[in-house]
Amino acid sequence: MGWYYLPLVGSQYGPCVPNEFGDCKHRACECTRQQFRAICKLCGKAIGEGARVYFGPKHELTHARCEETAEERRRTDGRND
Ligand SMILES: [Zn+2]
Ligand SMILES: [Zn+2]
Repeated sequence: MGWYYLPLVGSQYGPCVPNEFGDCKHRACECTRQQFRAICKLCGKAIGEGARVYFGPKHELTHARCEETAEERRRTDGRND
């Protein structure tokens, strides 16, 4: 399972910077903003812009660091033999 970086607001691949009217109406930008607002199921906090993330099997987002911590814990707990 690979991880990748979400873009930053206003960066080349990121959503537009909000203006005095609020966020832009671009579909792609809205999509990315939804990913920023998505809640990491492991720590319960919003993913946020520019985060390093994993896509789960149901396309749910988690912070890569949270996923790696959980994975490390699973590996340590499962070490019985
Ligand atoms: Zn936009
Ligand atoms: Zn998290």
